[in-house]
Amino acid sequence: MESGSRSNSQLRKAVCHSGPEKGQVRSPSVIVIGGGIAGVAAARALHDASFQVILLEARERLGGRIYTNYSFGFPVDLGASWLHGVCKENPLAPLIGKLGLPLYRTSEDNSVLYDHDLESYALFDMEGKQVPQELVTKVGQVFEAVLEEADKIRDEYTEDMTITRAFSIIFERRPELKMDGLAHKVLQWYLCRMEGWFAADANTISLKCWDQEELLPGGHGLMVRGYLPVINTLAKGLDIRLGHRVSKVVRRYNEIKVTVENGTTFVADAAIVAVPLGVLKANTIEFEPKLPDWKESAISDLGVGVENKIILHFEQVFWPNVEFLGVVAETTYECSYFLNLHKATGHSVLVYMPAGQLAEDIEKLSDEAAANFAFTQLKKILPDASDPINFLVSRWGTDVDTLGSYSYDIVGKPHDLYEKLRIPIDNIFFAGEATSTSFPGSVHGAFATGVMAAEDCRMRVLERYGELNIFQPVLAEEPVSVPLLISRL
Ligand SMILES: Cc1cc2nc3c(=O)[nH]c(=O)nc-3n(C[C@H](O)[C@H](O)[C@H](O)COP(=O)(O)OP(=O)(O)OC[C@H]3O[C@@H](n4cnc5c(N)ncnc54)[C@H](O)[C@@H]3O)c2cc1C
Repeated sequence: MESGSRSNSQLRKAVCHSGPEKGQVRSPSVIVIGGGIAGVAAARALHDASFQVILLEARERLGGRIYTNYSFGFPVDLGASWLHGVCKENPLAPLIGKLGLPLYRTSEDNSVLYDHDLESYALFDMEGKQVPQELVTKVGQVFEAVLEEADKIRDEYTEDMTITRAFSIIFERRPELKMDGLAHKVLQWYLCRMEGWFAADANTISLKCWDQEELLPGGHGLMVRGYLPVINTLAKGLDIRLGHRVSKVVRRYNEIKVTVENGTTFVADAAIVAVPLGVLKANTIEFEPKLPDWKESAISDLGVGVENKIILHFEQVFWPNVEFLGVVAETTYECSYFLNLHKATGHSVLVYMPAGQLAEDIEKLSDEAAANFAFTQLKKILPDASDPINFLVSRWGTDVDTLGSYSYDIVGKPHDLYEKLRIPIDNIFFAGEATSTSFPGSVHGAFATGVMAAEDCRMRVLERYGELNIFQPVLAEEPVSVPLLISRL
């Protein structure tokens, strides 16, 4: 498949399509662009279906927004860390179960805090005074009532609006739901957690679409040993080229030519584009012929938000033995949230997770200043906190190979954009979290799109070969049902 910088197209073809003796069927070939969970899942499936597959990954590591870092001497995830939907229906459950990877469940179904319950937590005000639990529970109920009202507003108005605008209409109509003082700050904290879920500020989240994704049952489980083992397992035995940042994709009749930054060219029957939405938006990959207008509109009309992690490693635990700590404040921008990894993993680590504008602003700081900022938030609630011994800072918003944490619906745009992003263009297929209609912004959603793109690609390519029966379906192996290892508290 690889042609180096050679220009002779015959030679390229020869390399790409070499191999079969007379009478033998040559394997169809596919180039997968992007080695996140979607790309790796697609490559695995096609490899197992006897395709020749090359996976081109820009970074010097696989995983993309799955990034388990081991520099502290144990695994910590700078990207995804939860399995959303701890149940056998989750497309990743068979693999996670088979690998025996333990999960620490942080919430059951339908929590107002998405991936947390109000079971084990401590919220504080800016002066370090703990907010009474009864108040947090009561405001949680008010927040749920506000969201129910938002549903009614959605039915009343034909045009879409932001969550912020919907809330202000609700507070005008139902003044008893408007809170003052400390209760107002707690409500802001709930809203701040909602912003974290979407990686976007409330004044950009769409009222029409905010609850359109499907939530699988079973609650949310932290991957105690990190997500990377899942990637490594899927990637075993594949032809993977790290450090290969694709710059051009040329589509010809029955052939795709892909060029990477150093000029090397690869040719195959088809390609699966599994790069992040942010990368597609930045137009750093040139498509020839250019993508159709409807595809370009889908790329520009879907939103991509920012959420980051600042991971603080301490000599020892000095904080309360709860799953998360929070700081409540006048505005969501000033609220904070720390995940206590000690609860799930036994390591003395707190993870500060800013989202939206705050996350973007923090990315303008150096790593040291960002870690300092997070530590300052912690000091507000625990003034005697000792300095971290180590830290890690993610920059998903500005990292050229991601350019945003995950997709979300922009106000006034339809929810079918995810599907439009997924639809293939001839022999170019698309995968990745932003192509998932049901589970955008998630690992299992991205995984499922990779498998789906592989199946679509297999059908499309084999149609031409007329040998549909020779190659295995992409999910040849029956998923084995192994119970998930779940703990809590
Ligand atoms: C901070 C954070 C927390 C998250 N938490 C969770 C969570 O707890 N649970 C959950 O389910 N989801 C979570 N997510 C979302 C989840 O990580 C993503 O939805 C999922 O990992 C996306 O996978 P993907 O394969 O679509 O994209 P990616 O993982 O981004 O993979 C795309 C790959 O393409 C590569 N690439 C980019 N440009 C090029 C190019 N030009 N040429 C070649 N390769 C290229 C990239 O380097 C990358 O490896 C989180 C995300 C972030 C950022």
